Amino acid sequence: MNNVLAIVGRPNVGKSTFYNRLTESRKAIVDDFSGVTRDRHYGIAEWTDKSFTVIDTGGYVANSEDVFEAAIREQVHIAIEEAGAVVFLVDVTTGITDLDAAIAQILRKSKKPVYVAVNKVDNFQLQSDATEFYGLGLGEIYCISSMSGSGTGELLDEVIKNF
Ligand code: GDP
Ligand code: MG
Repeated sequence: MNNVLAIVGRPNVGKSTFYNRLTESRKAIVDDFSGVTRDRHYGIAEWTDKSFTVIDTGGYVANSEDVFEAAIREQVHIAIEEAGAVVFLVDVTTGITDLDAAIAQILRKSKKPVYVAVNKVDNFQLQSDATEFYGLGLGEIYCISSMSGSGTGELLDEVIKNF
């Protein structure tokens, strides 16, 4: 199994915030590939005794989900191929969107381990809202706040079991 973690999800769920937290103060090893891989950022992260590569997908920051849905799907497919594990980031403040459901469908068909991380769970009250994401059909959910870092340790403890 390769030591690559891909972060996927629709725009604005907090992928880059999560990526920056994981790769904080570490130099991106590769930046800005050409073609379809442009805007994918690769960095190094460490958790406990493990070092792994993190991919932040979809750095194009789309404002319109419709226009970019095909591009997002493409990024998810590439991420699945490249990664040893996938963190699927969703946003507790919006609930499950159509695009979340579409991405979940792609991920369910993949044979890679997928971890659903419900982001923006900044306080305890929001944890009950997060339970709706069990409806994605991808098993366990991990409530995190990429902003504060809360919950990210529990998530990474599970993710690195693949590396
Ligand atoms: P991306 O498009 O998926 O890469 O999302 P970004 O990382 O650019 O974040 C989108 C917005 O969500 C930004 O305004 C972030 O500051 C905000 N954000 C990211 N993580 C959190 C979080 O844990 N809590 C809150 N409240 N906002 C967050
Ligand atoms: Mg981003």
